[in-house]
Amino acid sequence: MNLTELTIRQTHEGLKKKQFSALEICRAYLDKIAKEDKKINAFLTVTRESALLQAKKIDEMILSGQEISLLAGIPLAIKDNILVKNVRCTAGSKILDNYIAPYDATVIKKLQERGAVILGKTNLDEFAMGASGENSAFGPTRNPHDLSRVPGGSSAGSVAAVAANMSCGALGSDTGGSIRQPASLSGVVGLKPTYGAVSRYGLIALVCSFDQIGPITKTIEDAKILFEAISGKDPLDSTSLEFKFQSSLPNFQIKEVCFGVPKEYFIEGIDPKVEEIIQKAIKKYEDLGAKIEEISLPHTKYAIATYYIITPSEVSANLARYDGIKYGYSTIQSKKSKLKSLLNVYLESRGEGFGEEVRRRIMLGTYALSAGYYDAYYLKAQKFRTLIKEDFKKAFQKVDFILTPTSPTPAFKLGEKTEDPLKMYLCDIFTSPVNLAGLPGISIPAGKKGNLPVGLQIIGKPFEEDKILQVAQTFETI
Ligand code: GLN
Repeated sequence: MNLTELTIRQTHEGLKKKQFSALEICRAYLDKIAKEDKKINAFLTVTRESALLQAKKIDEMILSGQEISLLAGIPLAIKDNILVKNVRCTAGSKILDNYIAPYDATVIKKLQERGAVILGKTNLDEFAMGASGENSAFGPTRNPHDLSRVPGGSSAGSVAAVAANMSCGALGSDTGGSIRQPASLSGVVGLKPTYGAVSRYGLIALVCSFDQIGPITKTIEDAKILFEAISGKDPLDSTSLEFKFQSSLPNFQIKEVCFGVPKEYFIEGIDPKVEEIIQKAIKKYEDLGAKIEEISLPHTKYAIATYYIITPSEVSANLARYDGIKYGYSTIQSKKSKLKSLLNVYLESRGEGFGEEVRRRIMLGTYALSAGYYDAYYLKAQKFRTLIKEDFKKAFQKVDFILTPTSPTPAFKLGEKTEDPLKMYLCDIFTSPVNLAGLPGISIPAGKKGNLPVGLQIIGKPFEEDKILQVAQTFETI
């Protein structure tokens, strides 16, 4: 049996039946990382000692006959913008190169309470800004299906770790598509929860009004297990909410489901093979008896522009705290003799500590929020955000779910889009509207172009993750 190929559910069953120990599982993954990750670069930090220690604890529990939870002894990888106490947390940035997390994120606490084994922290585009994994200060992550290609981003390391069997499951964060788009490009399952379904406490903020943490897994069932574990209201995040999640829906009938297919999502520029795979997926649902209806989300064409005003605006505010004094990288030590003023420390530390894309967004956002431009840009973008939200609301009066491609193309070559930020921004064309509207969405493997995976996106109503997962499972099963 190849231990690193098992799903969370299979690993759990095997542990319960004592087919293998948690320590064996943990070692198998650590070996796999040692062997594979030199070429993939999914991990920024491997927490070997604490992982082995935790696995040993779970083995003792099993030996003493205690009930174990579904996640006990399950090795997981965590995106490096989620805090794990006493472990380095870089957000993929030089500015946080030496930052040690002083506390656990709520999602980490929840995983640890259930006995999960944290293997390490995964690579990402700097502060989660990017769609390819190439904006990390620690070098790009590569797509396990084709090493000359990107895995997608920003949760690049998390998807690559799962796709390459270097982790049983992972957590990512999604602000404009960073769980779903890389999941699509790397052939794994990625769920972006409803805004407010999962606590953001301990997630390094990119855009507070969009960010959500979510699961990245090999199967839908595993995504369900992880989502159930991390979701729910958290007193430490006032935007989080209590809601009812049903882990099984016994009365669910695909024949009673009506899917909407937005005409604005099948546009020029979409790879014909991607379109074909998605149309086939839609047809499969139809063959099962589901109703398919064409719908319109008329403001879709403004989504990227809206997203790329609001995102830089919040970025410019959220990243103001990295000033060379409070956190991480500072020129105070290196340039002591030449320091002229406190302002110089700020400017130089930020100038040297942040990468190009981060600096670009800080400047764009500062501009969009400045007096005289605020109304023309930020305020206008917020109005469009409302219109985009209304589009979905109207559509969901008629249909239960919306089916779209996750990404207009499969994985592209490293370096292909790095010179042109706009091209990179367009990677989020089908995913960012979902964040603008605060809705849940999942990307599931739907087919392949050659050896490159293509993902289907299923968008649902707020807090209907259970139904989305059910519908996704129906597809996975056939
Ligand atoms: N690619 C998008 C961006 O660069 C989405 C990032 C994300 O979801 N974190 O902003």
